[in-house]
Amino acid sequence: MDMTTDYRELDRRFYMPVFSRDTMIVRGRGARVWDDTGKEYIDCVAGIAVCSTGHCHPEVVQAICDQAHDLIHCSNLYYIPHQGELAARLAGITGLSRVFLTNSGAEATEGALKLARVVTGRKKFVAFEHGFHGRTMGALAVTHKPAIREPFMPLEPTCTFLRYGDLEGLRKNVTRETAAVVVEPIQGEAGVIVPPEGFLEGVRERCDDTGALMVVDEVQSGMGRTGKWLAIQHEKVTPDVVLLAKGLASGFPIGALVTAEEYQFRKSEHGSTFGGGPLACAAALATIRVIEQLLPGVPGKGERFRNGLSRYQPRVKGLMIGISVGERCPQIQKSCAEAGVLINCAAEGNLRLVPPLVISYAEIDRAVEALHASLG
Ligand SMILES: *Cc1c(COP(=O)(O)O)cnc(C)c1O
Repeated sequence: MDMTTDYRELDRRFYMPVFSRDTMIVRGRGARVWDDTGKEYIDCVAGIAVCSTGHCHPEVVQAICDQAHDLIHCSNLYYIPHQGELAARLAGITGLSRVFLTNSGAEATEGALKLARVVTGRKKFVAFEHGFHGRTMGALAVTHKPAIREPFMPLEPTCTFLRYGDLEGLRKNVTRETAAVVVEPIQGEAGVIVPPEGFLEGVRERCDDTGALMVVDEVQSGMGRTGKWLAIQHEKVTPDVVLLAKGLASGFPIGALVTAEEYQFRKSEHGSTFGGGPLACAAALATIRVIEQLLPGVPGKGERFRNGLSRYQPRVKGLMIGISVGERCPQIQKSCAEAGVLINCAAEGNLRLVPPLVISYAEIDRAVEALHASLG
């Protein structure tokens, strides 16, 4: 950082104004970050559930640096160091068989939509109200929020949106013409919404009955966030396709499409220049090693938040936490930031906390205290 450059002014003049922001974060370690004035924050945003190993975890930094010295990029025309190793790890973690690596969550969704069409020969999709699967054209077509999809209509493929939890709707709308049902096991962008008991089993059953693929979007809920590798592993359900991204490589861009053995792209049906490059694979493998150590501690940390915040009736799944606060959400976000705690507002007046899995009990207590002061 060069202290004489006005980065904010350059941003305002040259960057597209799609984000609303004022704080500039310049450094991070563990569950803490610092802004350009030197102010310290406990980070319960963690790059939106991305920096699960904490900021700049030494094992991840080491893996990226080591790989950068050997090879940064070479193309998927060749075998890529660590790509097969990462695929094997992801198969093990998910209980599935085949992997395709992308650069983002949206691209993982795109891959799933293409795959569902090519393996079923069907055209239609079913997804859920308040669901979020990414902002590229295909991913947007299965993303519900009217404000972000309607300006870009018409969107292909055609998708029917059902109420999250609507088993009756599944029976009517998932048919032998449905290529796939795309579902989050916990809706993250909607504000950490947990489905009713039996709903995900219901999706599985209806997919089995009709031959539609069950695509489970674990981009936000996966990679240890809820105390298991996948949120769907809290249920007795095995999906056909799992989507991963956010927490997969500690902030190095990557996404993954993981499938059962019978659902694979054949030669030339899909591809990517950057997807699964050497640096991304090295970062992801180091991340998985670190998360493996952190996983047993996640439920206890979630309970610490639950107990501390009990009077606000939080929805807690490991370290994925939502609190309904209504219109006050932006104000609470602001006053927590002033008190040195970063949290953010997901949809519909829901505060969302998705801190790094390395957060300590003392840091949790400080975050809880700031929330109490702001929530009243
Ligand atoms: C963030 C998110 C995506 C999109 O990921 P990008 O990397 O931003 O494209 C997709 N699905 C879910 C559930 C997400 O939370």
